[in-house]
Amino acid sequence: MEYLYAPWRSDYVTRKKIEGCVFCHIYNHPQDDEEQFVLYRDEFCFMVMNKYPYNPGHFMIIPNMHTDAIEELDEECWLRISLLARKSVKMLKEGFGAKGVNIGMNLGSSAGAGIAEHVHMHIVPRWERDTNFITTIGHTRVYSTEFGRVYKKIKNLLPEYID
Ligand SMILES: [Zn+2]
Repeated sequence: MEYLYAPWRSDYVTRKKIEGCVFCHIYNHPQDDEEQFVLYRDEFCFMVMNKYPYNPGHFMIIPNMHTDAIEELDEECWLRISLLARKSVKMLKEGFGAKGVNIGMNLGSSAGAGIAEHVHMHIVPRWERDTNFITTIGHTRVYSTEFGRVYKKIKNLLPEYID
């Protein structure tokens, strides 16, 4: 299914290669938030669209602190991430029309983490038979357009759900 996102990927890889941790780079460059599809920031964490989404509307909640272990996060930070996850679920169901949501973390590359050095929580909206949905709308050009539109929609929705 990766080919669906190929143009997106090529756009990504032709950009200047990010040195070090991608998530720290995003965290340290708030001036690039629009370009990086950042949705939200606070003192504990930030939220950003996943550029290789499992489904349209797939985003991540990421602690500001660089660590590969959730047990190293301050409890306050962990609670904030949990709270944001719950609010995100409410937003996706009420505002984005999701019928279900997957939330989860892959801790360590053995567990399937793509960027294992900086923990992150995936939030993935789901619909009935959404595999077919993706196949139907998955035309790459359509999808690129959709991505920007989905980013704006979620970014606009968030303030209604997050205080
Ligand atoms: Zn990092």
